[in-house]
Amino acid sequence: MAVNIIDGKQLAEKIKADVRKQVDELAADGVKLKLAAVMVGEPPASMVYARSQAKHCENMGISYELVQLPADSNQIQIAQRIEQLNTDPDITGIMLHLPLPEGIDTPAVQYCINPFKDVEGVNPVNIGMVFYGEPIIAPCTALAAVETIRSTGMELRGTEAVVVGQSPVVGLPISVFLIQNFATVTACHIATVDLQAHTRKADLLIVAVGKAGLITADHVKPGAVIIDVGINRIKTTDADGNTVSKTVGDVDFDAVSKVASAITPVPGGVGPVTVAILLRNTVEAARKQLTATKKGK
Ligand code: NAD
Repeated sequence: MAVNIIDGKQLAEKIKADVRKQVDELAADGVKLKLAAVMVGEPPASMVYARSQAKHCENMGISYELVQLPADSNQIQIAQRIEQLNTDPDITGIMLHLPLPEGIDTPAVQYCINPFKDVEGVNPVNIGMVFYGEPIIAPCTALAAVETIRSTGMELRGTEAVVVGQSPVVGLPISVFLIQNFATVTACHIATVDLQAHTRKADLLIVAVGKAGLITADHVKPGAVIIDVGINRIKTTDADGNTVSKTVGDVDFDAVSKVASAITPVPGGVGPVTVAILLRNTVEAARKQLTATKKGK
């Protein structure tokens, strides 16, 4: 049976078309969306990401402001700048470029973002609400993984799922979403003794670790659906023998494609869907703020 290569770009375009429609509807009601992206210093990868984000926002009709702080900013200075954005009525969404400089407590900074403006869904309040099944703004990548699974038409109820990687903003909320959709979930992580014994039982295997080549064909049950969340930059050799950099996931795509029934590529899988979900969360955040204002919160 030919493997279904899940087209994350196509799914992202569908989500973005809906976002654009919602932004236009809100604009017609006089609600303007503005996303503030906080960056400390100028990490090269963050600068690239910020430029692409600005373009995505522009295409959606969302204003974008890159809020840059000096690289030597301390915890209090970063928190104070976020607090200004929290209370700025023109700012409807806030996100934080990572990594922050060494010595800065990232979760503590994320905790400063108003949960109703936290478009990445990384404030512990937002992650906690996911556990209660009543998300305000849910973590983007976890939502993207679930949307990607849904796009395959796979029935989650009763499915034997394995999630490799249990970080608080990616793997763990993915596990929670799957449990809430009545999948039977095995959570694997760095301390899992025999990873292959678990992954081989999975009809649905989600991998969010950050280790290229972690999942080989031997880890996969024939016919399984594979969602590769990992993003890794590796060095490889091109046809002319030159060393080049390449982006790959955690799954050995070529080998696993021969065993799986469906698989996400990297790049072009969960990544573009995550970008689209961030834009959707930006709309969601604005709507939640409107509702909260009406309720007088
Ligand atoms: P993290 O480092 O916070 O967590 C990694 C997790 O993997 C931990 O739970 C750890 O226990 C587990 N782990 C580590 N080594 C393992 C091993 N050998 N076997 C099994 N489990 C192991 O990383 P994160 O922030 O959750 O990100 C995970 C990956 O997802 C990274 O590659 C990151 O770049 C990528 N990511 C992708 C997107 C996207 O849009 N596709 C978004 C965010 C993160």
